[in-house]
Amino acid sequence: MKVLVINCGSSSLKYQLIDSESEEVLAKGLCERIGIEGSCVTHQKAGGPKKKEEADMSDHTDAVKIVIEKLTDPADGVIDSLSRIGAVGHRIVHGGERFKGSVLIDGEVLEAISQCSALAPLHNPANLIGIRSCQQVMPGVPMAAVFDTAFHQTMPAKAYLYGLPLEYYEKYKIRRYGFHGTSHDFVSRRAAQILGKKREELRIIVCHLGNGASVSAVCHGKSIDTSMGLTPLEGLIMGTRSGDMDPAIVGFLAEKEDMSASEVINVCNKRSGVLGLSGGLSSDFRDLAQAAADGNKTAETALEAYAYRVGKYIGAYAAAMNGVDVIAFTAGVGENNAEVRQLIAQYIGFLGTSIDPGKNRIRGEEVILSAEGDRVVTMVVPTDEELAIARETVALVEKR
Ligand code: ADP
Repeated sequence: MKVLVINCGSSSLKYQLIDSESEEVLAKGLCERIGIEGSCVTHQKAGGPKKKEEADMSDHTDAVKIVIEKLTDPADGVIDSLSRIGAVGHRIVHGGERFKGSVLIDGEVLEAISQCSALAPLHNPANLIGIRSCQQVMPGVPMAAVFDTAFHQTMPAKAYLYGLPLEYYEKYKIRRYGFHGTSHDFVSRRAAQILGKKREELRIIVCHLGNGASVSAVCHGKSIDTSMGLTPLEGLIMGTRSGDMDPAIVGFLAEKEDMSASEVINVCNKRSGVLGLSGGLSSDFRDLAQAAADGNKTAETALEAYAYRVGKYIGAYAAAMNGVDVIAFTAGVGENNAEVRQLIAQYIGFLGTSIDPGKNRIRGEEVILSAEGDRVVTMVVPTDEELAIARETVALVEKR
């Protein structure tokens, strides 16, 4: 079956057409600046060049129509008609407590996703627009919703409750939800497979280190804790997000800088993390590693602070699971950035594992970084959230 995977933001739409039998990506692309002047589409057929062009997209329905045009284009397309698309898988950011797994989309599911919008006001409404636009352009094609939060719904109350008056959880559902669930699930599953073990036998710490970053404790196949919280702001220091900090800072800064609470949170989301720590130099870890190598001390400190926080979470989650068998690195930084992994290496030795500098030079591939005989296996497992969404979608469609 050919599955179209859609990741819809407020002004963008990412897509991949995946053949579920071969698990190959047939084509992929990105629509940008939807509803804004200068909208454009970048499309790439497998093995072909990336082609970017301007395209009129006044709304997301226009964008979906353009995606279909590109996929069926005689030169750059990969299918001869829309009817070749057997299913659509949508990435949905927040499923609240309602969604503990992926589901086929119907009217009730749409309503429930809409009810979760209060928890993710920037993301869920955009995800819903993506679904409705696809339904308009592809009526009758089965569609699935795959949630970033679902994998973490197995967390126990002691991990998901904040130390706040319980009434706020009861009234507003304020709790830890966690994100990147599709990736934490995919990577922990794959890590076990690579080691020839059952995931249910293992205690795995997954470090998803991208622009957004989170760590999870996957104990015997279930997420029992993760570093992101009610929103993706909590936890690690990220590209532009602060991660954990004293909540009193929000009030303090609001007063000192004459900002509202939401303005301070905006600073924490967009101007903090390694970008903020490096004095605004860059949120890109390649730039920071280069600057640090050239002797830039603030870039060096930003990277050290980043790695230190990851190290602390690994230690915490080893305690949460009363031990750890596997530490897996994934996403842009986790898969590719040898400098950051080497910095993290200094905090994991006590667990009985190591990062071999030679193997650590390998980029973007499945590789075991620890030495033969180490008590804990440390490895790189590239994530593939789109493939995971396609698999979930096919499983649901075939079960109908
Ligand atoms: P997201 O999906 O959250 O936007 P990614 O998983 O794509 O983020 O990660 C982006 C980060 O990965 C960037 O900071 C970038 O520096 C880093 N990265 C990507 N490729 C490389 C590479 N080849 N070497 C070092 N760092 C890389």
